[in-house]
Amino acid sequence: MGRIAYVNGRFVPHAQATVHIEDRGYQLADAVYEVWSLFDGKMADAEGHFTRLERSLSELRIAMPMSRRALTLVLREAIRRNRVREGLLYLQVSRGVAPRDHAFPGDEVRPSVVITAKSLDRAAVEAKAARGVAVVTAPENRWGRCDIKTVGLLPNVLAKQKAKEAGAAEAWFVDELGFVTEGSSSNAWIVDADGRLRTRDTNANILRGVTRRTLMDVIAREGLAVDERPFTPAEAVAAREAFVTGAGTLVLPVVAVDGKPIGNGAPGPLAMRLRRLYIDEARAGAV
Ligand code: PMP
Repeated sequence: MGRIAYVNGRFVPHAQATVHIEDRGYQLADAVYEVWSLFDGKMADAEGHFTRLERSLSELRIAMPMSRRALTLVLREAIRRNRVREGLLYLQVSRGVAPRDHAFPGDEVRPSVVITAKSLDRAAVEAKAARGVAVVTAPENRWGRCDIKTVGLLPNVLAKQKAKEAGAAEAWFVDELGFVTEGSSSNAWIVDADGRLRTRDTNANILRGVTRRTLMDVIAREGLAVDERPFTPAEAVAAREAFVTGAGTLVLPVVAVDGKPIGNGAPGPLAMRLRRLYIDEARAGAV
């Protein structure tokens, strides 16, 4: 059975799933998105991603295309039609199709909605986590509203390509003060030289990661503390452990920064434990 996508009210074969050339997502990156990880065919951290979606839309004054309840039904139908058990669910909402003009179109233009779902090989993903990944650093060059999850991802695209060409899996943006902001598609964490968990606070210009938020609750339940303070790449190299979080990566150990190994160059024990705990939590809470 082939993949099925949802486009503006219809489920269509993936290969034939298209939007109009004057869709504002395509022309102007005037669109937001969300990604849910799927466990047993159910959405992890569903509430957190819906809440962030509503916030991203409201910050850009794009209307919710349908109620949360209706959207949930459509998302579930996309999962079902693609028979995804373990995988990822993608939702994009653009301001809609209108003659190209930077300013907003009239209220008669309805938002465009695109949904895709894909399966993941959980065993391959776990093998990658067990090896850990390398990251490279890149100068922070994004706009000032990285808290909004827009599809305007060109700096992230270029940073990720830089990582790929260096044999790394992620790029960490570094601001003009020399601190890591976040990854191109993940939040960045270390277990610093003193053994403290550290990640940047979300008053900074970063995405408020849903995985980050849930992991904070998991960490608190473990009786551990998180120091929401930025760190430099040098502190990451001197750290005991590092990892990234995101719906795509869950909790993924980082073993090198710019070619320099962290600790003994193997995934850290706390990162691996938090990965397991996060997955247990996400799987149990998936709806
Ligand atoms: N930062 C950026 C730039 C991202 O693209 C992502 C992935 N959505 C994250 C952080 C992690 O966010 P979440 O845990 O909500 O997936």
